[in-house]
Order: sequence, then structure tokens, then C-alpha cells
Amino acid sequence: MTTEYIATIGLEVHVQLKTRTKMFCSCKVEYGAEPNTNVCPVCLGMPGALPVMNEEALRLTALAGLMLDCRIDPVCKFDRKNYFYPDMPKNYQISQYDLPICQGGTVPLHDLAYPKDAQKSIATPNKKIPLVRIHLEEDVAKSFHMENTSGIDFNRAGTPLMEIVSEPDIASAEEAFAYLTVLQQVMIYGGISDADMEKGQLRCDVNVSVRPVGTEKYGTKIELKNLNSISGVRRALLFEIPRQIDFLRKGGTLAQETRRWDDDLGETVLMRIKESAHDYRYFPDPDLLPVRTDGIVAAAKERLPELPWDKRARFVAEYGISDYDAGVLADDLSLSSYFEKAAKLAKKPKSVANWILNDLLSALSGSPVSACKVSPESLAELLDLIEDGTISGRQGKEVFAELFESGKSPKTIVDEKGLRQVSDTSALESFCDEVIAANPGPVADFRSGKTAAINFLKGQVMKLSKGKANPNVIGEILTQKLSA
Ligand code: ZN
Ligand code: MN
Repeated sequence: MTTEYIATIGLEVHVQLKTRTKMFCSCKVEYGAEPNTNVCPVCLGMPGALPVMNEEALRLTALAGLMLDCRIDPVCKFDRKNYFYPDMPKNYQISQYDLPICQGGTVPLHDLAYPKDAQKSIATPNKKIPLVRIHLEEDVAKSFHMENTSGIDFNRAGTPLMEIVSEPDIASAEEAFAYLTVLQQVMIYGGISDADMEKGQLRCDVNVSVRPVGTEKYGTKIELKNLNSISGVRRALLFEIPRQIDFLRKGGTLAQETRRWDDDLGETVLMRIKESAHDYRYFPDPDLLPVRTDGIVAAAKERLPELPWDKRARFVAEYGISDYDAGVLADDLSLSSYFEKAAKLAKKPKSVANWILNDLLSALSGSPVSACKVSPESLAELLDLIEDGTISGRQGKEVFAELFESGKSPKTIVDEKGLRQVSDTSALESFCDEVIAANPGPVADFRSGKTAAINFLKGQVMKLSKGKANPNVIGEILTQKLSA
């Protein structure tokens, strides 16, 4: 009998905070600036330069902690983590050791956070991944390796960096994907970080081990590096977990190693074997006093936004849309505000949701809703024109296509294209009289009980009106006249 194995995954996520300036100096935080232009003696690590704490970074970290249900103790402090850092000349990183800002907490996973193809087969629905801690530290510089030389850009050095450490409680590649998706949502919702993995604003280290089902002791932990997207994390784990299981089944013994994910190759590749755990000789940074957190937490509480999962529930209750639609809208902060603006103006919020999720999203084909010419106001105006019968649903699609291209107001487009449906009863009544007089056969059929004959007559009226008659109104008039 072959042994069955289970995987245990823990994630360490580094998030660059969205502050104006760096963690311990007043240099600008700016992505893509000319190398080494946002630097000073503090972030260059000059001896004797003194760090000054960025309070906004503390507030944002506390906000992340509040959103994820962490405990925040009355005091936190900063420590030096000593190590040889080629990209950090002072050779220690200011981080937090035994008194981080946030401890504990959970990341609640939900169905739509999973990869699309895995949403129907979630092993543990509504699983909550416990956190160990969230602490604050400084980012290091960035090294570039060229053909014969290497260069270091210190613009990134000293950027406030939040480290979120999960318990090893993630059981699959799909759960890791969902965990990172939720974290990214929370960061964006809180205005804590733009959390763009391509820009390195959210970076993820993965620890993964496997062990036989029914055993208690964790297997040998292997670390994965170089993961540049959430789907990349999933792909790396889908490769690495079976690799470890296969290795053990063949009688091998795994070593504690660090492996690099090669996305082109679709494999993890050995980088180095860890001989021993590092001793970083942490000690309190003598240049920084411990921090009392009460004021910071109070300020963070004032900024606490509605959480994505609360917004989803509220959308269902307030606008009567389906839980699924509410979830898709709430997953994307800008899409959810767009929806809400339009839904408040339109007569039927439900059709606002439908049009956003079908027509608008497919027209956008991946580009952000903020850049689109269809304002929430014009979408609401268009849907109301359909709702009150001014134009038909099919004409609505035509107007939408034009609106998406030109951004003109729906009413203007309807007038320019001459699409307005004729609902004016006196005009329609004379059309109906004309059609009844000209078609004695179908009229007799209808009167003798073949009610479907009315469709032919409706079609004739439609023709006379050149397609502009409101079909519901024609139906009413014809029925009334034929039953008289
Ligand atoms: Zn600086
Ligand atoms: Mn770190």
C-alpha cells in the first residue's frame, strides 16, 4: 500500500507600505525613479546617522492588524537584525523581534478568492488561516547584476516594509492562492499598499513540507523563492508538493533547502542547502525608543474601511443582487464603488450589476474601470432609458457600445441615432387601426381564440413604426381593440 501524504504550507509576505516617505528618514518613496536619487545618510547606512520613525507606517501596520483581527499590545519596539547584507551597508536591518506591532489574527478565505477552476471544489469552505504576527521593518536596496559589474539602487532602501507571517496552516496550492488574494484585497481596501506583485510591492516566501497522513511531526521544510505572481505561487506549489512526495516514496531523505521557482521551466531549482539556522543576534535598536501604540491604534480605527466580505453581504441585503455577483463586485474595490454609485442612481440596481459584470467587464477586457469612458452616471441613465421603455434592451446594447467608445450621454446617443421608441399612444393607435383593417384573417383567428395571431399583428405595427414602437404598448393597444 502506498503512503498518502499531506502538505503543510506557511507564507511570509512582505508588503511595501504606501507612505510618502521612507521608514526612518524623509526620503521620498517613489517607484521607478532614477537610481540613487531618493537617498540620504540614514538610508545609505552611513555610520552615526540617526533614524526617525515614520508614524504613518506604524498607523498603516496597525490598520492591517485591525482589519485582520490581530492583537495589538500597548508597547512595541524595534530591534536590529544582524547579518551580512550585500545590499545594506550597515549590516543590520531594523526590524521587530519580540514585541511586534501585531500578533495573532486571521485571514478569512472565501470562495471567490480561490482560482476560478478550483472554486467548485474547495476542501475547507470559509477556512480561516491563523497569523503568527505582523511586524514592521525597513526594505533593503536593490542589486542589479550586469555583464561585468553589479550596481546597487538605494532608492528602495529604507522603504517601510510590513512582514505578515502565517501559521503553517495552509494545506494546498489553491489555499495559498486564496490567502494571497485576500491579503492583497485587504491591503488595497485599507489603502495600506497597492500590493502589486509585479512591482515588488507584495513579495512572498513560501515554506512547504509534506508528511505521511496520520503523523504529527512536520516534514523537512523547504523554502521557495522568486515568486512574482499569485498564480506563480500556485504553480510552484503544484510542482513542489508532488516532487517532495515522489522523492520520499522513492526512499529519499529531503534536506532543508532553498529552491528557486523557474516559471519558464515550470520547475523549482535548488539554490542552496541550509546548514544551520541563522543567529541574527537581535537586540533593541538603541537609537529608537519603544513605541506606545494607543494613539496609533486610535488613529487607525478612524480609518477602518468596510471589509470586502462585509461589503459583499451588504450588497446582497441592500441592492437585492445575488451573493455571487456581490462577491465579484466586492472583490475589486474600484469596481465595487463604481457599482454602488450607479446602483444608487438607477431604478433597478439588479440590472446595474448585470450590465457591469457582463457588458462592461467584457468591453473593458482587463483594463481598469477607472480609465473607462462610461461613468456610473451614464450607465444608470442608459439602464433607466431601457427600464422606462424609451429604448429596447437590444437598442440598449447598441447605445452602450457607442457610449463605451465616445463617452457621450446615453440620451444624446439615443437622439442622434433616432432610437427613441414610440410610446405615444395616439400615433400607435392609428398604426394599430391600419393593421387591423388590412389583416382580416389574423384578426378573425385572434378573435376565435388563436391568441398567438397577435404576434403577427404586432410585427406589422412594428414595421409601420420602422422598428421604433414600444412592443409592450402595441400589445396592450391591440389586445384592447381586438377584445372590444
Ligand atoms: Zn533617506
Ligand atoms: Mn523580513
